[in-house]
Amino acid sequence: MRNEELDSIIASVRAYLELEHESGMDEYYFASAEPKPMLTQAMPEGLAGLKNEVLSCRECDLCNTRKNVVFGAGNPDAQLMFIGEAPGEEEDKQGLPFVGRAGQLLTKIIEAMGLKREDVYIANILKCRPPNNHAPLPAEIIACQNNVKRQVEIIKPRVICTLGKFASQTLLKTETPISALRGIFREYNGIKVMPTFHPAYLLRNPDDKKIVWADMKKVMKELK
Ligand code: URA
Repeated sequence: MRNEELDSIIASVRAYLELEHESGMDEYYFASAEPKPMLTQAMPEGLAGLKNEVLSCRECDLCNTRKNVVFGAGNPDAQLMFIGEAPGEEEDKQGLPFVGRAGQLLTKIIEAMGLKREDVYIANILKCRPPNNHAPLPAEIIACQNNVKRQVEIIKPRVICTLGKFASQTLLKTETPISALRGIFREYNGIKVMPTFHPAYLLRNPDDKKIVWADMKKVMKELK
């Protein structure tokens, strides 16, 4: 076994055990030993072109307060895509999605699924940070939602996991609460969508990690 494979398995086991400690998870998924296309792979032209467009977007007021546009990151050939709400302070600073506290928890969940962040694609509904992390406003969602929809069209994941109310309701065009949407595969343009709770919610409600883990097991089963 090569060192990188061993490191990756150790990282997954560590993430799993840490999550299990708090959430009563009872299963573990090993990453496949087969090499997968990774981040080092060139971005398809369509995604690079879209990124260029979005980096200079001025369609809503968030362009006046952002430090960086947070376009999205990960494997452009990903089978699994996570969609969150909007960048927070750390994401705005770094220009990368889910790199703050909620992001660290998302990374643990991904690793406990036997995957690495570079295996999946991570994006948000809003590409710019709302000041003081205010909840996305309808006008901001309307201005930005086509960007994530175009990312989905280009990446063509087999499964999308929407994190929290805003991502789930926006993609699925519904006002059903996240507590009722989660845990059941929905559909978006022929792609399976698993809505689940947002990692920031889990930081405030750690007992619900087991619910998210149950949702992620359904995702893993679908991807196998
Ligand atoms: N929360 C989100 O929804 N997205 C991020 O990128 C970070 C936190």
